[in-house]
Amino acid sequence: MPVFMLDVLPSDSSAAVAGTVHRVETGTVTLDVRDLGPSRGDGVFETIGVVDGHPQALDAHLKRLANSAHLLDLPEPHEAQWRHAITVAAASLSTQRQGGLKIVLTRGVEGTGTPTGWIVASEAAGDFAEREAGIRVITLDRGYTSDVAARAPWLLAGAKTLSYAVNMAALREARRRGADDVVFVSSDGYVMEAPTSTVILRFGDCIVTPRTDIGILPGTSQLSVFAFAEARGLRTEEALVPVGDLTRADAAWLVSSVRLAAPITHVDGADVPVDLELTRAMNAALLAREN
Ligand code: PLP
Repeated sequence: MPVFMLDVLPSDSSAAVAGTVHRVETGTVTLDVRDLGPSRGDGVFETIGVVDGHPQALDAHLKRLANSAHLLDLPEPHEAQWRHAITVAAASLSTQRQGGLKIVLTRGVEGTGTPTGWIVASEAAGDFAEREAGIRVITLDRGYTSDVAARAPWLLAGAKTLSYAVNMAALREARRRGADDVVFVSSDGYVMEAPTSTVILRFGDCIVTPRTDIGILPGTSQLSVFAFAEARGLRTEEALVPVGDLTRADAAWLVSSVRLAAPITHVDGADVPVDLELTRAMNAALLAREN
């Protein structure tokens, strides 16, 4: 699992980016224990899918990284440096297997004002059977109302921060209840997102996803799914989705950058129809992305 450390450049630096990215073997990585990323979860990240050595949806990931950094008042990422680092890291992966890059930007060591940046490259461990077999999900209360982003922006809803302990706890709760994943619901009853993916539903010829202004992350895979759907002549809509719609839908998926589209087969034990033909076409389109 190759790791790449960056000498993080300020966004307005005109210095050459070559030579600012250093490969380190996993066992020898040193990260300062005073770094606010690991010690407080004070930083942002992206997980980028890699297919045939190609990082997918790179523009959308870099845009979201910059937006997350902005929401946390972190220095703006140097786009050319991250593009270079991502290219270097992607080239370290085998072209035989799908993989992922976790790119991280933290507030750095307390008191220095210098961010820390790194990338971990990894090959996918599993065979993505869930893209065909589907997943069972449970709904869990996120504890926020759907106006949280506007009412309490300091909660950073919609930023991809390193503070994922709640998301991971929700996934453990799903496993305890015999399910694979979670759909978070706002405390006023609207579908939000999953701990590491976006919810997509089909009603007839319309593909729907929850509006991001309810305090959820804008998904890069969701953007690609909407482009795919529109090219197929389907309508697309961002909407307020009442939780009951999960079992009224003609099909439902969780989508994310490495797993891609996993059809939902059950919500809280109730059956959800699976549209295998559309799922296969969706995953083929996601795998074929150039950007
Ligand atoms: N929502 C959350 C909370 C996530 O963590 C993720 C991805 O990790 C997503 C949605 C899906 O985003 P993407 O499609 O860009 O991977």
